[in-house]
Amino acid sequence: MTDIRVGQGYDVHPFEAGRRLFLGGVEFPEASLGLKGHSDADVVLHALCDALLGAAGMGDIGKLFPPSDMRHKNRRSTEFLDEVKTHLDAAGWRVGNVDITVLAEFPKINPRADAIKTEIAVHLGIGTERIGVKATTNEGLGFVGRGEGIAAHAVALLFRI
Ligand SMILES: [Zn+2]
Repeated sequence: MTDIRVGQGYDVHPFEAGRRLFLGGVEFPEASLGLKGHSDADVVLHALCDALLGAAGMGDIGKLFPPSDMRHKNRRSTEFLDEVKTHLDAAGWRVGNVDITVLAEFPKINPRADAIKTEIAVHLGIGTERIGVKATTNEGLGFVGRGEGIAAHAVALLFRI
């Protein structure tokens, strides 16, 4: 009997000048703005971690890595993803697939979608064919449309045999 779970995650961070921009563990060095946050503010990996944790019934990223904890300041979110994966492994969960949608007016995400897939694949120990990375603008509407920040949605499917 296979136990199957689905999880969903959402995150948003505002742009901030003078910060490096990381999305899905990949740096966008051409971006003039980074994202504001306690860690590296990788909105894509935060949404992904929440989807994975939600599917496993393990709470959320804020519970695992509280912003009040100074150890997490400016930490790379790939380390958060590694730690989430360790928790999943310990509970016997395997990742079936993950799918991510990034909402951003800029920068262009799609030229680096494959690089993001490769990065996530390495950290989750799964093939890139199990990872979806899609990007869309918000058609000028709302805070994303005004270029005030980036949002990301993720879903994850876990299974345990
Ligand atoms: Zn976040």
